[in-house]
Amino acid sequence: MPIQLLSDDVVAKIAAGEVVERPASVVKELIENSLDAGADYIQIDVMNGGQRLIRISDNGSGIEAHELPLAVTRHATSKLQTAEDLYAIRTLGFRGEALASIAAVSRLTLVTRHRDEDLGHQIRVDGGQVEPARPVGVPAGTVISVENLFFNTPARLKFLRSENTEKRQITTVVTRYAMAYPKVRFVLLMDDRETFRSPGSGDLNDVVVRVLGLGTFKQMIEVEGEQLLRGGGRIRGYGLISLPELNRKDRSRIMIFVNGRAVQDNQLSYAVSQAYHGLLPKGNYPMAVLMLDVPADFVDVNVHPTKAEVRFRESDAVFAAIQRIVRPAIVGHTRTQYGYGNPRSSMVGPGWDRNTNISPGLLFTDDLVANNAAGSEQETLSQLDPTAIPDGPGRPRNPRTLPILRVVGQVGANYIVTEGPAGMYLIDQHAAHTRILYEQINTLRADSREIVSVPLDPVPVDVSSKEARRLENVIAFLETIGVLVEPFGAETFVIRALPQIAADVDPADLLAGIVRVLVAIQEDGIEDALVQVLCEHAAVRSGQILEHGQMRELVRQLERSPSPHTSPSGRPTLIHMSAEQLAREFSRPPD
Ligand code: ADP
Ligand code: MG
Repeated sequence: MPIQLLSDDVVAKIAAGEVVERPASVVKELIENSLDAGADYIQIDVMNGGQRLIRISDNGSGIEAHELPLAVTRHATSKLQTAEDLYAIRTLGFRGEALASIAAVSRLTLVTRHRDEDLGHQIRVDGGQVEPARPVGVPAGTVISVENLFFNTPARLKFLRSENTEKRQITTVVTRYAMAYPKVRFVLLMDDRETFRSPGSGDLNDVVVRVLGLGTFKQMIEVEGEQLLRGGGRIRGYGLISLPELNRKDRSRIMIFVNGRAVQDNQLSYAVSQAYHGLLPKGNYPMAVLMLDVPADFVDVNVHPTKAEVRFRESDAVFAAIQRIVRPAIVGHTRTQYGYGNPRSSMVGPGWDRNTNISPGLLFTDDLVANNAAGSEQETLSQLDPTAIPDGPGRPRNPRTLPILRVVGQVGANYIVTEGPAGMYLIDQHAAHTRILYEQINTLRADSREIVSVPLDPVPVDVSSKEARRLENVIAFLETIGVLVEPFGAETFVIRALPQIAADVDPADLLAGIVRVLVAIQEDGIEDALVQVLCEHAAVRSGQILEHGQMRELVRQLERSPSPHTSPSGRPTLIHMSAEQLAREFSRPPD
C-alpha cells in the first residue's frame, strides 16, 4: 500500500495520543516500523540513554523516494485506509503519527532506499521543519536517526528520568520485541557498546536464553495450547513459563504478547498467576513469556495511545485460554513422580488431548509405576527445594544434559530433526527411545518400585530344551521388570503379561529376543541385557511415523537423560551439526 493521508473521518476514530513520552517510546515506534517493513535485521544505537541519539537501522522494504515527505507527515500511513481496517489490524503501526510526532520534538534524519529503487534518499526534519529530500547511495532499508530528543520541549526534557532508567526501559522494549520476533536479529548498542543481541534463529527459546539468562531459562518449561472461540476461530498460545521454584515478588516478568505485540494487561497477567494457584506462596508471581495468536478481528489494538493495551472481543475466552495453556502444564510438571516429565499433563490443548491414546510404545514413567497416585498440589509444594527440582518423593529431577531442542520434523520415519542453540541435532527415534525407557526401568528398579504389567492372551512359544533351562532361571527376574513368563509344558512357555510400556509388543518376538540374549550373554550381564531387550522391543520402531507431540515428548525426555548420546547397546542416539559445520558445508562466508 502507498503512504496516504488518512481521511478526517478515520483520524477521528483512531485513539490518538502522545506517542513520544520518553526515549523508549521512540525506540518502540521505530522498531515497530522496521518490523512492519519486513526487516529481519534491526540495529538500535543509543547514546546517553537515547537523549543524544537513537538510531534504528533496518533491512526492511525501505520507502519510495516520492513518499518520503508523506512518511513524516501526521496521519499519513501505508497501513490503513478506511475506518473498517481499524477492526482487523495486522501491522504494529496504523495511525501514521509516530514519525511526525518524533520529528516534532527532535532532529530527525531518515535515510532510506526502497528495495525496488536504485538510489536512496535522505530527508531531515528539524523540530518539525521538513527539509527537502536529497539522493544518497545507501543499501536497501531504512536508517532513522533521532537526535537531541525534546530539545525544543524543555518541560518534557526536565521530566526525563535518569539515564540508567531510560536505558533500562529501552532494553525492555528491545528484548520484548526480540522475543516476539525470534526470526529477526536484533542488535542493541548503548554508547557504542553492544548490550544485547538476539540470534534470529526463529526459536523463541534461543531469545529467552539471551534475555533472561540460561539459569532462569533452565527453570522454565514450554507450554502450548489452543482455545476455540465462540464466534469462530481460535486462540493459540505457546511460550515458556517458570517452574514454581522460580518466582518473583511482582508480576513484571509475566510477559504477554498478542499477535506479536507486547501488551500490558492486568487481567492477562492475573490469568497467568492464577494458573499457579496453590503452587506458589502468597505474594509470589511466576515468570512467563507467553505468545497468544488470535484472529486479527478479535482484538482491538486501537484503545491505547502507545498501543500497550488491547481489548478482546471475548475477554473471558482469553482468560480461559491462558488458564488452559498454563495450568495443566505447571500442575502436571509439579506432580510428575520421576525425573522424566509427564506427557499426559504437559500435552495440553485440544490437539494434545487426543495424543493420550498414543501408541503404548510412547508411554512413559507414570504408566510404568504401580500405585502412582499423585500427591496433592500442597504436598508437592511442601517438598519444593530451591536447589533441586523434585519431581517425586525425594527424587530430584534429572539435570539437563542436552540443550532445549526444538522439534523441526521427522525424516524417513526414522529420525527426528531438532534445532538447538548450537545447531542441528538429528535424533534416531528408536535408539533414543530405547535409552529413555532403559533409564526409566532402571530408575524404578533402583527404587525397588513395582512395574505394572498388563495381562495378555497367552501366546505359547516353543524353545529348545537348553533354552528352556536358561529361561527357567530368569523367570523370577523377568517378573520384576513386568514380564510374566510361565512354563506351558516342558519346552513351551507363555507370556502372560507385559509391562505397560511394552503392551504393544509382539510377545512371541520378545520371547525370541529374550532367548537369544540368554544364549549369547554370560551370567553376570544377563539382567541388564534382558532390560535392554525389553526396551528395544518397547521403544518406537524405526519406520514409525510420529506426531509432533510425540516427538517433542521424546526429545524432552532425552534432554534429561543421564546418557543422552548413546542407546543402552552403545549405538549413537544423535548426531549434532553445529551452526559452524552447517555454514562450512554450505561454503558460507563467516557471519
Ligand atoms: P504508521 O507506522 O502508523 O503507519 P509512522 O509515522 O510510524 O506511522 O510511519 C509512517 C509511514 O512511513 C509508515 O506507514 C510506513 O509506510 C513508512 N515507514 C516508516 N518507517 C519505515 C521503515 N523503517 N521502513 C519502511 N517504511 C517505513
Ligand atoms: Mg509506526
